[in-house]
Amino acid sequence: MARTLCFAAGFAMVLAGAPLLAQNDPVQSALDNLVAAYPDALAGHDDKTLRWRDGTIMPLSDGAEGKTFPELLRHASIADQLRIPYPRGPLATPPAVDADPGRFRNTAFFTKMYGDCQMGQVTPHLVSLAWLPKSWGKSISVTSLNGVDEQLRAVSAEIDALPENIKRAAYPIAGTYKCRAVADTGEPSPHGYGIAIDLNTAVSDYWYWHPHDGPIVYRNRMPEEIVAIFEKHGFIWGGKWYHYDTMHFEFRPELLGAR
Ligand SMILES: [Zn+2]
Repeated sequence: MARTLCFAAGFAMVLAGAPLLAQNDPVQSALDNLVAAYPDALAGHDDKTLRWRDGTIMPLSDGAEGKTFPELLRHASIADQLRIPYPRGPLATPPAVDADPGRFRNTAFFTKMYGDCQMGQVTPHLVSLAWLPKSWGKSISVTSLNGVDEQLRAVSAEIDALPENIKRAAYPIAGTYKCRAVADTGEPSPHGYGIAIDLNTAVSDYWYWHPHDGPIVYRNRMPEEIVAIFEKHGFIWGGKWYHYDTMHFEFRPELLGAR
């Protein structure tokens, strides 16, 4: 219940257009986590800007207040992308309405970090690795920036050591790098940055596959053991979204705090 309330409070602040970095604003500590999560790229922040190691300065806020949920999905500022805390560990209850931690993505931030796939800027950083070499072993492509490939190699080794009935949810995979848009928003997909992987669709659930008039009914068949391994290595899980996508994992260490 506490988590549900926390989601609701975080989202209410977005809707109310709370001033940026007010006392106790969860974005303040989230910004510290953001800078700490990407030490190769980010140098620091103050209460208005994010500073990159190459000297680039980005505004935290875009000045727009009272954004609706669809606007947050399509036009998130850097502050917006940090506003909903990600609940690490097993979920006690299904996500609250519109609690999609990690789905608000500031396009300028991710394009600066990983490149624009439509401009051919992502593929030079892609590397291949064998996914679950003891069970499946086919080659997948992810970015080497921020050590994403190394983290995914570690995830692969740990899942490969799980019992067959559990690790079966992790192969065959549905994809990693693909330069495309998110189905329901048209915004760049994290798959286009080389930071995401979709596991076995045969045991996955995606809200978009179901009729979606009215409240969304939560579904999940992804084993907790697999989710815990991904979270340990800096990947968030789409099964913790109200708009659930349980095959989807994405490298977002800033949302997982200290690992
Ligand atoms: Zn995905």
